[in-house]
Amino acid sequence: MNENLPGFADLGLDPGLLLGVQDLGFEKPTPIQAQTIPILLSGDHDLFGLAQTGSGKTAAFGLPLLQHLDLQARGVQALVLSPTRELCVQISNDLEKFAARTEGVRILAVYGGAGIQAQISRLRSGVQVVVATPGRLMDLMERKALDLSVVQTLVLDEADEMLDMGFRDDLDYILTHAAGRRRTWLFSATMPPEIKKMADRFLKDPQTLRSDSQSAAPSQLEHWSFQVPFARKYEALKRLIDAHPEMYGIVFTRTKAEAQELTEKLIREGYDLEALHGDLSQAQRDKVMARFRERSLQLMVATDVAARGIDVKDITHVVHYSIPEDSEVYTHRSGRTARAGKAGVSMVILGPKDTFRLKQIEKQAKVRFQVGTIPSGSAIAEVKLRHFFGKIASSEPRMDRIGELLQGLQPMLDGMDRDTLIQKLVWMEFERLFRYYALQNDADMQGRQAMGEMPAGRGHSEREDQPGLQVNLGTRDGFYKASMLQFLLDHSGLQKADLGKIILGDSWTTVQAEQESLDQIRSTFDGARFRGRAIRVTAHQGGRSNDRPAYAGPRNGGKSRPPFKRDYNR
Ligand code: AMP
Repeated sequence: MNENLPGFADLGLDPGLLLGVQDLGFEKPTPIQAQTIPILLSGDHDLFGLAQTGSGKTAAFGLPLLQHLDLQARGVQALVLSPTRELCVQISNDLEKFAARTEGVRILAVYGGAGIQAQISRLRSGVQVVVATPGRLMDLMERKALDLSVVQTLVLDEADEMLDMGFRDDLDYILTHAAGRRRTWLFSATMPPEIKKMADRFLKDPQTLRSDSQSAAPSQLEHWSFQVPFARKYEALKRLIDAHPEMYGIVFTRTKAEAQELTEKLIREGYDLEALHGDLSQAQRDKVMARFRERSLQLMVATDVAARGIDVKDITHVVHYSIPEDSEVYTHRSGRTARAGKAGVSMVILGPKDTFRLKQIEKQAKVRFQVGTIPSGSAIAEVKLRHFFGKIASSEPRMDRIGELLQGLQPMLDGMDRDTLIQKLVWMEFERLFRYYALQNDADMQGRQAMGEMPAGRGHSEREDQPGLQVNLGTRDGFYKASMLQFLLDHSGLQKADLGKIILGDSWTTVQAEQESLDQIRSTFDGARFRGRAIRVTAHQGGRSNDRPAYAGPRNGGKSRPPFKRDYNR
């Protein structure tokens, strides 16, 4: 952080607020705090702040907002609007902490998904500061539980998110009803034209400040990209998690379904995580957040919407399991780590077709990606062992608790020397990992360029017991082996290396591959049409024989799938 910046004591804050900040352990103001606080304290200014999460903007507006309160007056004097419940709770918690050493400040967070009656009675009991989501605020206004006529300070936090979430009309309504306000402070991470319009409409002669280039945080954020074959994304994710035992992070997916599916798969494999997405009830989301915060979860798998505004301390990694649609989403996701000057890593797992989008993000978000390789099985084993022994070395056993127990076990340990004991411990702890990586082919994990020269099926063709699929297309449809391979690759997004043995019959083809690739083939082709005829993809176990494979179970495992209408008319 810049040494020339003023200290909190130089900003003009009241002693109570200064003590509150000191209690939080904030040593120096962040750049946006140093710039903003004196301006906002010095009179009735409107403000347009272009600030990312993690820049310290909550204190930048929160401290002046609290200082402007007239603690003798009645009614809601300050209103903060924010896009999500999570952010509302965070902001009001922060404000509570800033105001902890100031007598008589009453702050209330109101948001949807929680009982409205309790909120109404808290409002009736008298609060000076309300932090609200726009929807719930409108509800409360319509029920006459909240009167905005004496609001003096109005803050729009993450205004771009609020517009994205469709709150435009609500914001118009609210701003029009808080017409007596003297200060409007708008914060946004980005400046799309609608935000500009909104600022023109509602801000009077605003001061404009931007924190992005001056914040200490971004320089601490590393950006990495990992290119892998499409069907290896899941495996790549697992390796990245395994290779970073200290990881405490968020894995982002694009859809709720993907978040859920990924979470279920990883939990089945023993990973310590939960999903956070919009299909969960509010109570479920709160539970996940609480477990993550207290670190009983190592990871959360989240969609962009659900993870909006989350401020959890010391997140070490953000993993983009699906590359974000655009650079703004990338910035929002990555901003969950490297907060308040801490270090953080943002890792993108790239499918073969994502390179172009990565380049765009690089250009628009002005970041530079380092190109990483997915760690090999032996590298992961080494990291895990080092971590394990590091933990052993740093542990401090309470002999008063375990001494007697250990003595009782002595006969079992007699005759076992130190090395044997270590070997046994390591094997017990890591047997599953070692077995797993012994079966995996590290070369499979390389991206498109690295795979270039590899013959089809490398690393797979030897494995006769691989699962397979049968597709009802064959030589009768004009295919021969190479053209079938090409057909499968062209439409599924898979690469040669993803597929194992391909056997062609007159009216059918069997394909062997890892389950992920098979799933990809199934979801691409099953239900599509080839020259008007329906393509059927059915399960087929084992590729050892050239016999016509038998029908094996209902199509698509009996699960429903979105209809796929494509007709492949080659
Ligand atoms: P914000 O951008 O307001 O969401 O703040 C991001 C994180 O930085 C929060 O966890 C704050 O508690 C923390 N923070 C804010 N200001 C400071 C500061 N001056 N020094 C240290 N940490 C801070």
